[in-house]
Amino acid sequence: MTQMENNGESKAKKPNILLISLPYQGHISPMMQFAKRLSSKGARVTIITPFSANVISDNNSINIEYVSYDHEEGQVVLTVEDYMANIEKRASDKLVQVMEKQRSSCGRAFDVLVHDSLLPWGVDFGHEHGLRVAVFFTQPCAISAILYLVHRGVIKCPVEEGTDLSSFLPDEIPISHVKDLPYDLYHERYPGSVDMMGNQFLNVHNADWIFFNTFLGLEDEVVNWLSSKWKIMTIGPSVPSMFLDKRLADDRDYGLSLFKPEGEACIKWLDEKDTDSVVYVSFGSLANLVQDQMDEIAWGLLNSECNFLWVVRDTEKSKLSEKFIEESADRGLIVNWCPQLEVLAHDAVGSFMTHCGWNSTLEALSLGVPMMVLPQWTDQTTNAKYIVDVWKTGVRVKAHDKESITREDITKSVKDVMEGTKREELKTNALKLKEMAIEAMSEGGSSDKNIDDFISEIVNPTTST
Ligand code: UDP
Repeated sequence: MTQMENNGESKAKKPNILLISLPYQGHISPMMQFAKRLSSKGARVTIITPFSANVISDNNSINIEYVSYDHEEGQVVLTVEDYMANIEKRASDKLVQVMEKQRSSCGRAFDVLVHDSLLPWGVDFGHEHGLRVAVFFTQPCAISAILYLVHRGVIKCPVEEGTDLSSFLPDEIPISHVKDLPYDLYHERYPGSVDMMGNQFLNVHNADWIFFNTFLGLEDEVVNWLSSKWKIMTIGPSVPSMFLDKRLADDRDYGLSLFKPEGEACIKWLDEKDTDSVVYVSFGSLANLVQDQMDEIAWGLLNSECNFLWVVRDTEKSKLSEKFIEESADRGLIVNWCPQLEVLAHDAVGSFMTHCGWNSTLEALSLGVPMMVLPQWTDQTTNAKYIVDVWKTGVRVKAHDKESITREDITKSVKDVMEGTKREELKTNALKLKEMAIEAMSEGGSSDKNIDDFISEIVNPTTST
């Protein structure tokens, strides 16, 4: 019996939900996970995903539709605007197609469209097609609050070094250093990328629901600040259930991966290592580190004399020297991609050197793993600030200057996180947050309750506020 039936809802009223994501691992994974939660609570779920590569695990309860965001032949994409316009065209065509297919195959329309916040046209699109609309933010509330202020013109970019942030940041955001703001706000990577990030808020006020992949206990002050503007719902951490509340049987991975994980090799290697003896190192699916950074990380890890498992994507491998590969063979395993959650959950892993992508951050928090932060761009700089100074579950490799890290900085941060009183403090804090993450997703927890409320509000629109 599903939870819906348990709750006395009639089967005929099963909510029918359509979700659509952006073409990045860090966006598809949390939305996929959210889709699984909705399905486990009795909703019919269809998710439109932008890649079909490496289906790691099939989830028969979710209908998956693929969309290609490839450009048409001859189409020139020079700007961020062109890039997003292409996605809008492809995504909206696909949405229409999936909606028509649904009507003709089972005579039922979708009730709700859930769209990634970076597809801000989704609100009007959904309403025009008779659907209610939920916006899904894959970034933390702190980032969203800052980007909202950019959108409103309160923060003017680029923010110059030395600017007094207290003149425009609310007290709820404990940031005083410019380089703890999202990277693009002081160093725009592509013309138009700041506007694209701010545009997430174009239509938020018209959305029927606003979801954040975060959880209560983590950034409550800024959650309250955003709640004073709109009714928002925290629904995270959107991490496979077997690493949290364990209510979704066998749910151990997100299901879709851009890269093929070398799972067996990693786990076999970790099984042979002592408890808490391995540093896990990953910079996510997108970051490209410069040669100097790669060299310093490599030799810093080796000099720390700890074991390490380092994800170096194939496209980055040429940045590792033969000499390093030879000398690290006893203590290091280098892979193209790993099952990160399984790795973080392994007893042998004592710490995580991370670029602070939001999913990696939530995963480390959910599993109680202390971190060394080496942010690269986007939201990572702000996430790093929260990890080190707010949640106190990590140390900085070097303050605010990723380009000038040295191997000594790397070795020192590894030692701080792996040994001594600093480690104890970080681990204690990390375990507290792990408990909070589990509680949020467990039955009756804050995020679980918000997901239940969402389902009830679809079935009984009068209960919506
Ligand atoms: N990841 C993984 N295996 C790896 C490296 C990363 O499964 O070897 C996953 C990780 O668990 C996370 C995602 O890739 O869910 C990366 O997302 P994040 O937001 O941390 O960073 P991004 O890739 O967007 O920069």
